[in-house]
Amino acid sequence: MIGQVAVVTGASRGIGRAIALELATFGAEVIVNYTNSTEDATELVQTIRSMGGKSYALKANVSIEQEVENLISTILQNSGQIDVLVNNAGITRDALLIRMKTHDWQSVIDVNLSGVFFCTRAVARSMLKKKKGRIINITSVVGLMGNAGQANYAAAKAGVIGLTRSTAKEFASRGITVNAVAPGFIDTDMTKNLRADLLLSAIPLGTFGTPEQVAGAVRFLAADSAAAYITGQVLQVDGGIMMG
Ligand code: NAD
Repeated sequence: MIGQVAVVTGASRGIGRAIALELATFGAEVIVNYTNSTEDATELVQTIRSMGGKSYALKANVSIEQEVENLISTILQNSGQIDVLVNNAGITRDALLIRMKTHDWQSVIDVNLSGVFFCTRAVARSMLKKKKGRIINITSVVGLMGNAGQANYAAAKAGVIGLTRSTAKEFASRGITVNAVAPGFIDTDMTKNLRADLLLSAIPLGTFGTPEQVAGAVRFLAADSAAAYITGQVLQVDGGIMMG
């Protein structure tokens, strides 16, 4: 990925951080997008630089259209191009549907679905001109199978799959691939309050996944030649929790 420029949203921790490190390890210049923790984002940029990589951090809330437009135009000015977009930023606001607050429904849709739309549209203009690009959206197995207490999150992640396949069809003739990665249960801050003992028996491989295992799948889909003939797919990284 030497010479390629990759943007990872929500990259200051968890799966996004692992993706940023993986893409940087394989030679990409990585732009670390974050919303809250300047400290974590700065630390990640320093880690990448200490590995000999190129990186900088930019703050933007992916659910706010104008912030996304500013983010992408700043990157195009600084780095000249964007070859890979990884839409990773996401939140959960869990509640049973009957008790779900409208605000919690809306904020999950805004970040997890509209955020992917805003970033994809903003990046697509330059990729369409170049007739080249890779867009990888982080969805979830919950978007495929549903989950009690996560109607907002499941709807948003299912929406991301529809968005992935539609944009894959729209952009295919212009050399841009769009794929999704659907993690199962991955050991991050997002899952730290889940009861692992209750969930492990449902996972054929018997453990939660690691952020690095998701990052490996993303790096494959971002690869210039190895994944060139793959588009509109949902690659599950889920320990076999949902087969078929
Ligand atoms: P995390 O909470 O550790 O990381 C999410 C990141 O997104 C954080 O850095 C956060 O600051 C950032 N973010 C949140 N709102 C944002 C916004 N409006 N703009 C920009 N950044 C924002 O969680 P994670 O487990 O690393 O999750 C990463 C992605 O993987 C998410 O899309 C999540 O839905 C998905 N996912 C996670 C799991 C899991 O088991 N952990 C499973 C399936 C899918």
